[in-house]
Amino acid sequence: MNLFFAPYLRGMSDREVEQLAQMMIFEFSQQAVARGGQAIFSDINLYWEVPKHFADVPAIGPGGEYTGLPYSDYAEEAQKFVWALFDVYMKGDASGRPFFFPKPLVHITEKFFNTPGHQEFLRHLCQVASEKGTPYFVFDRGDTAKISQCCRLSFKLEASDLADATSPWKMRYCALQNGTVNLPRLAYVAEGDDAALFAKLTDVMELVAQSHLEKRVFIEKLLAIGENGPLAMLTMKQDGESYLRLHKATFLVGMVGLNELVQYHCGQELHQSKAAMKLGLRITSHIKLVAEKLSAKHHLKFVLEQTPAESTAYRFAKLDLRYHSPQSGSVIKGDVKTGEVYYTNSTLLNVGAKINPVERVKNEGLFHPLIPAGSISHIWLGESQPSAESLANFVTKAFRQTQNDQLAFSPEFTSCNDCNKTSRGLAETCSFCGSTNVDGITRITGYFTKTSTWNKGKKGELTDRYRNSGAFDNKVKTLPNLKEVV
Ligand SMILES: [Zn+2]
Repeated sequence: MNLFFAPYLRGMSDREVEQLAQMMIFEFSQQAVARGGQAIFSDINLYWEVPKHFADVPAIGPGGEYTGLPYSDYAEEAQKFVWALFDVYMKGDASGRPFFFPKPLVHITEKFFNTPGHQEFLRHLCQVASEKGTPYFVFDRGDTAKISQCCRLSFKLEASDLADATSPWKMRYCALQNGTVNLPRLAYVAEGDDAALFAKLTDVMELVAQSHLEKRVFIEKLLAIGENGPLAMLTMKQDGESYLRLHKATFLVGMVGLNELVQYHCGQELHQSKAAMKLGLRITSHIKLVAEKLSAKHHLKFVLEQTPAESTAYRFAKLDLRYHSPQSGSVIKGDVKTGEVYYTNSTLLNVGAKINPVERVKNEGLFHPLIPAGSISHIWLGESQPSAESLANFVTKAFRQTQNDQLAFSPEFTSCNDCNKTSRGLAETCSFCGSTNVDGITRITGYFTKTSTWNKGKKGELTDRYRNSGAFDNKVKTLPNLKEVV
């Protein structure tokens, strides 16, 4: 995004660039189409360097005209703009709250580390991460090029997509829905039998495929009505091709509660033993393998994504308490008495486990190569504000020494509805005026919201989250690596 803006910024003063950066973020955070008080969910992909796939692409500038220069000529303006965006994120809104949207996804690549100024920029980002939590660090190792969006969704660009990059407006990708497998339920039904567990998993994946096929047929029917139908916008053909390129669509397969499946099946949670981690990795590999087989069988791209599961983790836990008790009661997280129950999201480790951040990022990262459509690790900061230097070292180490796909650092805030001020940490009362009319702010999953809007399951998770108060430089305990297991 910063690169595509760059040709329009040539010749502007720093002040003008800052003003545009502020305008853009302010406008994206307006509640243009309010849905429960949330601004439109939007993401911007940002780079410090000129990404390889855009370097030689002819740049478009004022008036929608080609400027005659490739994008590689606009590195300076692109850097100035991305720096200014993070100045705006650092200040937050009028009340000092972090901006919820647009989410800035910063791609960290091999080229990033070879681009002058990257150390200063990384420090700038980490300052914002420590103060406001806003940046997402997306790791594109080797030759990988990705487009990231949503809570963690990402599209790895294949050769044909990279050809699209020469006409960037063609880069319209979508995922139609995510069919999520309730993993712990499979363990209750399998009753400790390995073969039964994997067989059930294969069966339920076919059900996911069927649900996608039905949805696709339904969407195709709506699209066939063309400009008189409800999806008129998606059928417009400004560049000769439908805006929605259904042949490029991916069909997501998600998972919830790997940790609880493993806990029920082998008696230990993922972080508690090598055997538990191995089982978790075997399960995830199996899902990936079956998804590939189903793709070939049904001629659709089924790809794994960690389900964000704001509501699914709660819904599955509630349903299993009703239909699979007492088994489910032994592993479900949260508090059954208050109804604040949940399953651990996707392939994450127990959110309450006292694991240092290095270990969490490394071990959760073992699953990420198996989940091509996107993963994330959350580091819950709570009240603590680590130094920009320690976070920058941490991000660099995570890129170099782990397989983790994406990181976000999440602080917590209390926002006062009476005096409008914002303070760090979650509190019952405003530290400025003493009012109890306050709301909490932190990441629910892959984005920030007010905690008053959360369902009971997420509230239970919030209580349990282990806040890291430092230890960003700890040594990593050895757990199995992927090659040992798969
Ligand atoms: Zn107040």
